[in-house]
Amino acid sequence: MTQIRDSIELDFCDVLFQPKRTTLNSRKEANVIREYKFKYYPHHLMSCGIMAANMATTGTFAVNDVLQKYQAITCLHKHYDFNDGENYQYIAQNYEKEESAHNAYTFISTGLKDDKERLFALLADKNFKIDKLCIDIANGYIPKLTDFVKEVRDKFPDILIMVGNIVTGDMTQDLILSGADIVKVGIGPGSVCTTRKLTGVGRPQLSAILECSDAAHGVDGFICADGGCTCAGDVAKAYGAGADFVMLGGMFAGTDEAAGELIEKTIQTNVVSEESGQSRLLQNKEKYKLFYGMSSQLAQERHFGGMACYRASEGKVVEVAYKGSIEDVIQEILGGIRSTMAYIGARRLKDIPKCTTFYRVNRQLNEVFGKS
Ligand code: 5GP
Repeated sequence: MTQIRDSIELDFCDVLFQPKRTTLNSRKEANVIREYKFKYYPHHLMSCGIMAANMATTGTFAVNDVLQKYQAITCLHKHYDFNDGENYQYIAQNYEKEESAHNAYTFISTGLKDDKERLFALLADKNFKIDKLCIDIANGYIPKLTDFVKEVRDKFPDILIMVGNIVTGDMTQDLILSGADIVKVGIGPGSVCTTRKLTGVGRPQLSAILECSDAAHGVDGFICADGGCTCAGDVAKAYGAGADFVMLGGMFAGTDEAAGELIEKTIQTNVVSEESGQSRLLQNKEKYKLFYGMSSQLAQERHFGGMACYRASEGKVVEVAYKGSIEDVIQEILGGIRSTMAYIGARRLKDIPKCTTFYRVNRQLNEVFGKS
């Protein structure tokens, strides 16, 4: 018989942090850099836990160049051809820059349909030096994924493996026990994702994070909350719900460092003078950048040579207002998180969940002057 889970499922917009008495006098006292110790990967990583999504637009070398300065991570998209000398050199040199290769903040990505032998050759290549892998598929519940995680862990006991996506505790534990250090959580919350419309499958992201982080921490693993963050407050709420890492696509889109065509539009507004009653046309130039889901028809055509006939598009294409450098975006996010920490009394990133009490709310913003 069909079952209904009728406990309330929550999204970021359904909660707000309760402010608490704090020992911090200023947000400067909040430390957003955390030391991560992993279940399998034998090295520590000092990071703020923020990751750029491995989308063709945001998982770029240019994004990586900036984010690593903030000890934030970039999951490169899987369409970089590492047979190409320049791309290969980028990774080798980038890893060399760090005192120890293990301090580098770059993951390479793979799906299940990519060239496995080539991937294994790269992971084994001592000159390429990459030791962080993101295994990413839309439906993390298929048995082939667990088998693949076991195979990679078996061959490469010392690499950092992140895998997803799922939204339930049982599968989080399965993947960690199969060899993953980090499990990526999120089905359908993404800004350019249409999975929920097309398939009816998904789970509100805050509830998914609450359940999966608890399950992961019970078996010494971590989770990465992937998708659905629209502002710095949402990133803080993901940490509040127990996420160890937070992956962002849309928030980093539209920046100089993100890939995607720059589009210039002339916007005409008719302004009527209150005094004379005469109207005149104002012209403004506005800039946008193209951002698209990795399962969108555009991505399928650009990166996979067209849409397979058994697939339907599960992603959309949007024009995001141009934001300038990603540096401003990451600074604003880190500033926001520090401020949250000061409000709730968390000195360290790791302390956020234990200092968190959420109010369940039915409206988080006053939108009298619009949504921004
Ligand atoms: P955002 O931060 O934009 O809300 O979410 C980013 C995440 O959306 C990505 O990390 C990825 O998990 C997911 N995503 C990216 N492209 C697509 C797509 O075409 N379809 C679906 N279902 N999810 C996508």
